[in-house]
Amino acid sequence: MFSRRSFIQGAGAAAGAAVLAGSKPAEAFTFAEFFQKHYKELTPKDKEAIFKRIEHETKAAYGVDVTITDPPPIPEVEFAYFLSLTRCNGNRKCVEACVKENNQSRDPAIQYITVLEMEAGSFDLVEGDRYYNPPEVPRKDKFYLPVQCQHCRNPPCVRACPVEATWKEADGIVVVDYNWCIGCRYCMAACPYEARHFNFTKPSIPADQINPNQSYLSNRIRMKGVVEKCTFCLHRTRNGKYPACLEACPTGARKFGNLRDPNSEVSQILKHKRVYVLKEELNTRPQFYYFFD
Ligand code: SF4
Ligand code: SF4
Repeated sequence: MFSRRSFIQGAGAAAGAAVLAGSKPAEAFTFAEFFQKHYKELTPKDKEAIFKRIEHETKAAYGVDVTITDPPPIPEVEFAYFLSLTRCNGNRKCVEACVKENNQSRDPAIQYITVLEMEAGSFDLVEGDRYYNPPEVPRKDKFYLPVQCQHCRNPPCVRACPVEATWKEADGIVVVDYNWCIGCRYCMAACPYEARHFNFTKPSIPADQINPNQSYLSNRIRMKGVVEKCTFCLHRTRNGKYPACLEACPTGARKFGNLRDPNSEVSQILKHKRVYVLKEELNTRPQFYYFFD
């Protein structure tokens, strides 16, 4: 069947995008999905119809009743994440919670957070061990560095996308419209933090583990052939909750909040602690910071 993605790839309209995309098989799209407009052109009525359609599609594909919403950025909010490298002990509870909250594929496994086991004193991400599996953590002379989307203020992934399927919102969250993504993976190549992940197959999630509270730009179940990543749990954080990874962290290593509020915990950390960003030399200007307590 014809699809927006397969059409763009087939026609080569995305200026070379097809070279990478050639390996992605075409998917069956409904007529309505094929003619769906860009997210920024959708009216509230369009969105209502699209969300209903996705709810029906999810029921058909996974047998589960879900609700799709679209919480907008909150005015005067700039979100930032801070992670204490003193407190993180490498237990990976954040990874587990993120997978469940955000309906990530279990097999093949997609995980938005990669925790690296690092040698004390080193910040070279390439040297970090992502497959560490000792009987107990933390190990002596190691520290643990969780890496996820840094929600860069100057995001190379956004510039790389040939069809504007990914962009930065007013609160700083970098989002992807999975329905607009053509699966070329240019954004993945551009991201210096390996924060983006590609759905080579239809995500596999046991029906009884699906989180039914979903949003269009975050944790709704993705389709085969599109890119996904951390969204700062916007369906939670724009509704006054913390990200799932923060709530799951047993050591209190994770802090999240509004940098525009001078009294917020994150503003106070920025003011009083020495903070670090990853790969500062690339001028990506992350909204994700690391610090030592
Ligand atoms: S970390 Fe990667 S995916 Fe996230 S905003 Fe920066 S460049 Fe984009
Ligand atoms: S979001 Fe990434 S994979 Fe999707 S169209 Fe844009 S660059 Fe390509």
